Amino acid sequence: MNNSVAGQEQALLQRLPSSNRPGTFPPALLSPGERVVFETRPRVWGFIAVSLSINILWSLLIIGTVATQPGAAENPALWFFLVAPWLWVLFRLQAWKGTAYAMTDRRVIRRGGRGGVSLQDARYDLISAVEATGTTTVRFRIAPNAGAPDGAHGVGLINHYVVWNDLAQAAEVQVFAQEFVRLQAAKVREDEVRRQLRARALANKVRCPYCNTLMDFSTINLTTPKCSSCGAPLVTR
Ligand SMILES: [Zn+2]
Repeated sequence: MNNSVAGQEQALLQRLPSSNRPGTFPPALLSPGERVVFETRPRVWGFIAVSLSINILWSLLIIGTVATQPGAAENPALWFFLVAPWLWVLFRLQAWKGTAYAMTDRRVIRRGGRGGVSLQDARYDLISAVEATGTTTVRFRIAPNAGAPDGAHGVGLINHYVVWNDLAQAAEVQVFAQEFVRLQAAKVREDEVRRQLRARALANKVRCPYCNTLMDFSTINLTTPKCSSCGAPLVTR
C-alpha cells in the first residue's frame, strides 16, 4: 500500500525542503479548498545585491567629493544624487517582499513583480520537466502541446516556464519539486482511470470489453488496469 501514489506522496511530504516557510504565500490568492504543500521566498540578497553594491560605491564617491571639495555640500544636486539610488534599493526590496513561490495540491505558482502584481501558475499535469538552471533557479517547463489555456496562466508563460529564481538551496527544491510533480501527474492519470472504470462498473464489477470477464473493481490495479483473464487493457487513453 505504501507503494501507491498516495503512499509515496505522504512519504515525500515528510521530507520538505529546508527552505519551506509556512505562511509566506498569501492565502487570499488560493482557490477555495486549495492547500499549500511547499512555500518559500527568494533570497533578499538576490534582489538587491547589484544595486546595493553600486550604491555603496556611488555613495562613497559622493561623500568623498563632499569631504574634499569645499562648498560641495551646499550643492542640492549632489544630495539628490546621493539619495535617489537608495530609493531604487527600496523599490527592489518591495519587489522582493511581493515575490513568493508555492506548490499546492493543485498547481505550482509564482507570485512576483513589484507589489506582487503578477501571477504565474500551471497545473501539474501540464508540466513536462522541473529543471535547475544555475545554482539558484528552478523552472517548471510547461509542455508545449499542453494546449489547455485554463490550466496555466501568466506573463512569463510566453516562454513556457514558471520560474522560481534566487532560491536558497535550489538543488534541494528541484529534487522535491520534480518528485512532487511526478506524483501529482500520476494522481491525475489514476483519477482518469478510476473515472473511466466507474463509468463501466456494474455493481462494483468491471466487464472486460474483449473477453467479457467480470472483475471486482477493488482488485484492479489502477496503475496498469488490465483484464485479469485475458490481459487486455481496461482503459484506453
Ligand atoms: Zn479480458
